[in-house]
Amino acid sequence: MWTRIEKPLVIPADVRQVVSSLTDAGFESYIVGGAVRDSIRGVPVADFDVATQARPEEVEKIFSKVIEVGRSFGVMKVISEAGRPVEVATFRKDGDYADHRHPKSVQFSSVTEDASRRDFTVNALYYDVKTGQVLDEFGGLQDIKDKKIRAIGDPAKRFKEDSLRLIRAVRFAACFGFKIEDATQLAIQQSSTLIRKVSVERIRDELEKIFLGPNAKAAMIEIDQLKLLESVLPEVAAARIENRRAWDQTLRVLNYLPKVSEKAVDPQALPIPASIYWTWVLLPSMRLQAMDKREEAIRKVGARLRLSNEMIDQMVYFSRETAKFRDAFSMREATLLRWMRETDFPLLMQFHEVDAIAFDGNLSGLEFVRSIYPEAKRRFESKPLLTGDDLVKLGMNPGRQFTEILRAVEDLSLEGKLGTKEEALEYVLKQFVK
Ligand code: ATP
Ligand code: MG
Repeated sequence: MWTRIEKPLVIPADVRQVVSSLTDAGFESYIVGGAVRDSIRGVPVADFDVATQARPEEVEKIFSKVIEVGRSFGVMKVISEAGRPVEVATFRKDGDYADHRHPKSVQFSSVTEDASRRDFTVNALYYDVKTGQVLDEFGGLQDIKDKKIRAIGDPAKRFKEDSLRLIRAVRFAACFGFKIEDATQLAIQQSSTLIRKVSVERIRDELEKIFLGPNAKAAMIEIDQLKLLESVLPEVAAARIENRRAWDQTLRVLNYLPKVSEKAVDPQALPIPASIYWTWVLLPSMRLQAMDKREEAIRKVGARLRLSNEMIDQMVYFSRETAKFRDAFSMREATLLRWMRETDFPLLMQFHEVDAIAFDGNLSGLEFVRSIYPEAKRRFESKPLLTGDDLVKLGMNPGRQFTEILRAVEDLSLEGKLGTKEEALEYVLKQFVK
């Protein structure tokens, strides 16, 4: 059903141009999916997708810059005049699904059939740039008003076809602040274990979007209630049964994350690395284990999630070092500064903030470390006061004692007790040269 909407959507000129090049060549074409949904919701649009009657070979003829994405599925990427990639997909009807994820075959078809194969009503809206009308076959406009995520057609069948939709439903609901409609919820619960057929990378990507979205805590509770937790995060599910505190800590982390993400909107701030937020979410469940077992457990879940070795090493580092903030007051100053000198220490401070809030709320160690960080950085970044050469010039013979002497000098320099080369030489003469 074609519906006029209150005010026309704001579509950038170059995207409009992609659509009109197709329609001018005689092919029915619309903007579809997330761009229409998000424009109507009144939020910024991430990327533009176009659905068209044109076949891939025809799309290729019309545009000078085309990248093949999945020709057999009818998906091509057109580079707009402004250099923006726009996905242009041929209207299609999916055949049977092979493996709970991919249709065995696709058949090019009409826009109404194309609408039926989409996942949720809010995602099956087509915008005609010429008339400003929206094709809404399944009540997606009303569902946006009502803030509902509703599967198109028979929900159980749709989740069985492509089981990634199970977690996509939760992600859309969490990211938009929508509710999953009842029949759709029931079908998710009943089909929840099918999510195991989906590759871990796809699940991980969805979970990451959930963690970094505005309703991460509610989404985690929903994942649990929809019986998805056991399949998507078995490590958290296990701890949840054994230890209520671990689960509460994870929820406290997730409750706090939107505040961190908001801060990260600051253009000065760096994006939060995956190693940090995965450790935030997982460490509470791992704390049940002894330190050596914990490292093993972190490595195992990092590998399961197919995170890079660099990320996994950082996760181990965060989980091992976060407890040390409470000892910061009593550490010898040189030890403290060496600890703070580690490459990823700034990330560790970022990690510890949320971890401590969720663990016991004690931020005094972090505040202390942050307060001395600028001065500490100045000291540990300054050049060493002495090198082996300087000791040779004092007439000493290179040997094992050199390491000991240089370390003692470094300790005192880190502690601000030696400030110049002259002071350092004097100290060595007094202490080590008879
Ligand atoms: P966002 O890009 O904000 O995550 P989106 O709706 O654009 O949201 P995409 O994954 O980019 O999501 O997919 C574009 C469109 O393709 C969706 O709006 C939906 O219509 C359709 N689609 C994507 N994945 C599926 C799926 N697994 N099953 C059915 N339709 C899908
Ligand atoms: Mg998209």
